[in-house]
Amino acid sequence: MFANMKKISLSNWILIGMILGLIVGLFLNFFVTDPFIKNIVLMDNIFYLGGTLFIKLMKMLVVPLVFCSIVVGAASISDIKKIGVIGGRTIFIYLITTALAVTIALTIGALIQPGAGLDMVVPAQTSNVTLNQTMTDTILNMIPDNPFSSLSTGDMLPVIIFGLLIGVILAKLKEETQIVSDFFSQGNHIMMELTSLVMKFAPIGVFCLMARTFGGLGFSGMLPLAKYVLCVLIGLAIQAFLVYPSLLILFTRLNPLRFFRQFFSVMFFAFSSSTSNATIPLNLEKLSEMGVSPEISSFTVPLGATINMDGTAIMQGCAVMFAAQAYGIDLGMSGLLIVIFTAVMASIGTAGVPSVGLVTLTMVFNSVGLPVEAIGIIFGIDHILDMFRTAVNVTGDAICTLIVSFKNKALDVDVFNGKKEPKTIGIEL
Ligand code: ASP
Repeated sequence: MFANMKKISLSNWILIGMILGLIVGLFLNFFVTDPFIKNIVLMDNIFYLGGTLFIKLMKMLVVPLVFCSIVVGAASISDIKKIGVIGGRTIFIYLITTALAVTIALTIGALIQPGAGLDMVVPAQTSNVTLNQTMTDTILNMIPDNPFSSLSTGDMLPVIIFGLLIGVILAKLKEETQIVSDFFSQGNHIMMELTSLVMKFAPIGVFCLMARTFGGLGFSGMLPLAKYVLCVLIGLAIQAFLVYPSLLILFTRLNPLRFFRQFFSVMFFAFSSSTSNATIPLNLEKLSEMGVSPEISSFTVPLGATINMDGTAIMQGCAVMFAAQAYGIDLGMSGLLIVIFTAVMASIGTAGVPSVGLVTLTMVFNSVGLPVEAIGIIFGIDHILDMFRTAVNVTGDAICTLIVSFKNKALDVDVFNGKKEPKTIGIEL
């Protein structure tokens, strides 16, 4: 039996933790009336301890993980400068589509109101960020007075800006600062390993968080969660089947239906593996079958898998609205703009592997002072959403590649339209 239990994957354990937590929570809410057992022993001690321990471990990861990955990401982007116009165009489209994706998510979140009715209480001392600051303050606060104090207080915007600047300089100085570059990429590696270690505790953490939330809320807590899932799925569908086809028609006049018919297998692989990185070879093969020159795609696709995560940005936008509504926090216009900016940065900082979008979500929450405890509630269902959003992430990379190669005359339109035989690069799909 234990051998069988070992075969269950971590994401399934998290799902099991979530479902068990939900059942235990509902049971407590409806059937346990003894306030000592229910509130004192379970809710305020055992579940509180397990849940908070997990949240604290997640919080511990954020600053070093985000800082290292932003430095490494920025260093690789500015290195690409040598590729000139193509590099600039690609990065521009990647950033714009991600900003658009978050905006769509925030709009859907405002319309569907997934967090309304949860009435969660803001835990004491969540963040040092003041909400509703003016636009001028927001811009000024992006520049750290002292980067070390921003790092130590976890003030995300200045941390991101500082990280971006360091990355750009490292790329410029190249060999001269190789040791420091290696330090950050190894730091990034270490933080990814640490993240995997913390994730091992996720099933218990998620169980405790769910049991505590639903022990207090009962069934009334389920609707918001279902609405959150709906928001994310609607956002992903809009991005994939409305925004991308429109961009393709607008910039290339290619037929989106033809694109999807050919690209579906790549989306499906991304969906089942939840990793953009592992999908790179298939994406490259499909694009070359569509007539894209490998000279372009071999640069744009791996770059996209690293810095372009439109699906992840949609999840983050919806999660922000969910938490803000659950805690009754008004983000204001400047708060929403900060969310758009940080989610685009989070997209650069999210590695194309399963679940990392949740860790960088902590950074987006921190940037506007939202309590990260809300992440615990959406944690359990995240694996399923991760599958959908990864499919959208890789589609965004492919659409951008088609546009860039079309604009740079590196796309054989006859091949795309099936009038000419494609040149494949030899990977079986
Ligand atoms: N799984 C996603 C990807 O690989 C990243 C994430 O959102 O967690 O694209």
